[in-house]
Amino acid sequence: MKITRFRKSISGKNIVYSADFVPRRLDLRERVFFKVPRAYKRGDYPYDAFFVAAVPMAMALQENLEFDAIVSETLYKRIHGIKKYINEPSSSTKITVKGTVKRKKTSFANGLFFTLGIDSTHSLISSAKFSKKNRVNYLLFMNGSHSFEVSPAVLKTVQAKIRKWGKWSSAKPIFIDTNLRKIADKIINWDYFHGAGIAAAAHLISPYVGKMYISNQDSYVTDEPAGTGPVIDKMWSNEALSFTSLFPNSKRLDKIKEIIRSKRYREYLKDIWICTEKPASPNRLNCGVCEKCVKNTLRFIAMGAKKSDLAFFFLNKELFDTLVPQSGPTTSWEKFMKPIYDKKLLDVDMLSSIERYLKRRIRIERVKKSQERFNDFKKKVKRLLIKFELLDEILYLKNHLRAVYTK
Ligand SMILES: [Zn+2]
Repeated sequence: MKITRFRKSISGKNIVYSADFVPRRLDLRERVFFKVPRAYKRGDYPYDAFFVAAVPMAMALQENLEFDAIVSETLYKRIHGIKKYINEPSSSTKITVKGTVKRKKTSFANGLFFTLGIDSTHSLISSAKFSKKNRVNYLLFMNGSHSFEVSPAVLKTVQAKIRKWGKWSSAKPIFIDTNLRKIADKIINWDYFHGAGIAAAAHLISPYVGKMYISNQDSYVTDEPAGTGPVIDKMWSNEALSFTSLFPNSKRLDKIKEIIRSKRYREYLKDIWICTEKPASPNRLNCGVCEKCVKNTLRFIAMGAKKSDLAFFFLNKELFDTLVPQSGPTTSWEKFMKPIYDKKLLDVDMLSSIERYLKRRIRIERVKKSQERFNDFKKKVKRLLIKFELLDEILYLKNHLRAVYTK
């Protein structure tokens, strides 16, 4: 994979940085861009941002990376370690760069990736108690990290909400736009790329921010790998910008408990954005009926939220008959269902609907797992073929045989 043709241009109130991403094996030539507000202009070019975005893609493609620019010495040394944490442990990607350099640290301000989700909101609320030196000074939101295109109306609403939280916490919001996910999704699973994506965005503003907080939690390592965690987060750092995991050992339920206890709780319920479905309208960011919305509603109930507080979610027993499982094991439900059973927080009818759903979910999970094992096997075979440069021959043979048989 080659990363080349770095460009910078001005578009309205933004500076646009872009580069070509050219994978060798795929018939692709993609231009990755980041739009950064002009207020955050810089004297140098943010090559390190493109570098952290490119390395996981090259590893996932099992290709060497040819990076047509100079990168940070520290970053270059550290980044080889990411392979284990992005599900590419056997990657033998060689990375070639134009050269390395020691970047200068120019800021001691702290930034936080902020999405209106549970983890980053918990980080922001909790960081109010940090010492002045460690408090959050910037909130960074990257538009383009969702699986769908965020409409301008929804984006406007989300930005207004983030500005409000920024005002409350005396942190300046910064909004960056990118097409990174659109391109990355063709190459690597976002669950594993997510950390690299947000780290890339942070490198664009490094003259203004010296440390970025990434909110993560225990389940990122145990049941929902997200390409972030205390070990991998550090690997995105250069001399000017470091990354620190916030509350990596906290459990999501404990975070929800702390949010419920805080004065900002009701305010947060108005602003919460946790759904991964495309919002139907700016007034309804959460669909309320997908598994992610339902799970989080139950988590809030388990931690003592009143059902009337959660009026914007639509918990009813019929919902569980049509619910579609998302990622994550069924066992992760036990953590929040236990307090609900123990304290009888839902009525018997609702509980039996949930139980029926969980039984169905386990069956679906089994089928999915066996499919995944088969796909993993195919992936391993394909890798071996690539390694020994046999893939093209096999494909040729396959097509040839097909042509013979269909004659
Ligand atoms: Zn939803």
